[in-house]
Amino acid sequence: MSIKKIIPYGDETLRQKSKEVTKISKKIQTLVHDLIDTMYAKNGVGLAAPQIGEHLRVFVIDVSTGKEPLNPIVFINPKIIQKSGACSSYEGCLSFPEAYTDVKRYANVKVKATGLNGKPFVMEGKDGSLLARAIQHEFDHLDGILFIDHCRSEFEANRILKEKGLKPIEEDKLLSEPEIEKELESLPTNPGDTVLPEQKSE
Ligand code: ZN
Repeated sequence: MSIKKIIPYGDETLRQKSKEVTKISKKIQTLVHDLIDTMYAKNGVGLAAPQIGEHLRVFVIDVSTGKEPLNPIVFINPKIIQKSGACSSYEGCLSFPEAYTDVKRYANVKVKATGLNGKPFVMEGKDGSLLARAIQHEFDHLDGILFIDHCRSEFEANRILKEKGLKPIEEDKLLSEPEIEKELESLPTNPGDTVLPEQKSE
């Protein structure tokens, strides 16, 4: 198993759609272990296969913190079967070193996937938790969607992208999310200059 190079934003392959996994072969097992090793090496919360150049529907997440034991969760061929509510919070992505911006997400999400053992499972992320947001973030990568496509302020996202030497928002990729936006109207906007508590990327 090895630590892989993470494909950076600007590389068009991040916009490709990934294919379903048909069999949990040796190749998939290696891919999963590479994802886990690379996620930990880069101190991330999650990592999706296309971020290491494999266009297969696989991602890993570990939302354990501090002294908790490591708890990597493997999602193969995930399907989001329920989503509701709205939240907004700062997110980063391992393909965007040190760039964080406020993004719109569903607060609750239920996902069905297959584990590395071949068994299906259902997992729920609730109340805008890190798990709920990470599932949506990683799932998006499999469809070529990036966190900045969900940005709450295009101006603010462009400001941070520019500061980090990254190319600006791709206007045609911005998502219209009326359901989430409507619910968010009643929530306060995160102030732009908040000091982030040990922010991690996905
Ligand atoms: Zn990401």
